[in-house]
Amino acid sequence: MIEYHEARRAVAARAKPLPAESVALAAALGRSLARDVVARRPVPPFAKATMDGYALRAADVRLAGPHRPAELEVIGDLPAGRVRRGAVGPGQALRIMTGAPLPARADAVVMVEDTEPAGDRVRIRRAVRRGENVGAAGEDLARGERVLQRGSLLGPAAVGILASLGLASVRAVRRPRLAIIATGDEIVEPGTEPGPGRIWNSNGHALTALARQAGAEAFYLGIARDRAASLRRRLQAARSADILVLSGGVSVGDYDLVKEGLRSFGVRTVFSEVRIKPGKPAFFGVRGRQLVFGLPGNPTSALVTFHLFVRPAIEAMLRRPGPDLRVGRAILGSALTLKPGRLHFLRGILAGTGPALRVEPFPDQQSGVLKSMLRSQVLIVVPAAAARVPKGRVVDILRLD
Ligand code: AMP
Ligand code: MG
Repeated sequence: MIEYHEARRAVAARAKPLPAESVALAAALGRSLARDVVARRPVPPFAKATMDGYALRAADVRLAGPHRPAELEVIGDLPAGRVRRGAVGPGQALRIMTGAPLPARADAVVMVEDTEPAGDRVRIRRAVRRGENVGAAGEDLARGERVLQRGSLLGPAAVGILASLGLASVRAVRRPRLAIIATGDEIVEPGTEPGPGRIWNSNGHALTALARQAGAEAFYLGIARDRAASLRRRLQAARSADILVLSGGVSVGDYDLVKEGLRSFGVRTVFSEVRIKPGKPAFFGVRGRQLVFGLPGNPTSALVTFHLFVRPAIEAMLRRPGPDLRVGRAILGSALTLKPGRLHFLRGILAGTGPALRVEPFPDQQSGVLKSMLRSQVLIVVPAAAARVPKGRVVDILRLD
């Protein structure tokens, strides 16, 4: 049995960064950036009208008001996508549409609502400041600005930024291929009737979802029965995965065959028990370059140990910044009484903000209660020596998102 931090180090030492590849914009969502993205050009590339109206020189309409309109000569019409060659001179205005580049010597745009056409002239009923209704070049992104950091997972806005910089593809870290195998004679897939003594498989699906959310390419390989041959067939199918995750069958019961099955399949044990609660039977081993995690079958234990060990491995492979960045502190909302001896990870619900951030332990901490994971945003970390933790104590928390 090893300590939590040793176990984390053992995983970190074996989770190697994956290579970068070129990814088309359409497939970039959720990918980990391999390099910082720097704006090579300003966005927008030119000063432009942000309103439909008239481009003019603010000085010409300085005294304009509703009862004292300024009258200017209209020298043309500029839709978005076109460029005006000449300048706007004193006493002149150019009709301009939103998105069109501001012509030379104009310094403001008056909204069409504040104007009134008068033949080939226009009456301006309002004064404007210089720069009013004009989007400056580089207003969104300045040239040379480092706008996206390597190791960040691309979200929708980041995809938009890449596109606004004209990038059709981006260098992203290859996703780790992660295979998931559920185990257990009692487990059946949702959509079929369980029959007496059987339950539906939640882990296979929850772990697959967690792996995808963490940025892995997840392959769910179904349920292995509690027999060596059944497990072996699925281990064969998982051979090309970077990471293999199994749930169930890692305790000390008569039908817990996973650890033995993995060893006889050539998986070298790194650890096979960790002094934590939940998750004590968690197994970690390697087979060549493949990392193999045997997580306990209890749904909460499976998900908690995924967060503690598998997610950091995925993040290291994706070259993401250290997951310990997500460690925080909060004030415990109610007292805890625990059996000492193992490092506890309790599901907790956050309330308040800033230095007043509080965390309330989820009322039911049983390892079979998946609902606790649904409602909780954090794991409260309680040292192995603590038997009673009073309300108001500041505790470490690990974010689950
Ligand atoms: P095990 O670790 O195989 O001893 O399983 C511990 C508990 O978790 C048992 O009550 C199992 O029925 C349950 N369990 C195991 N695998 C799953 C699964 N894939 N989905 C839901 N519950 C499971
Ligand atoms: Mg089992």
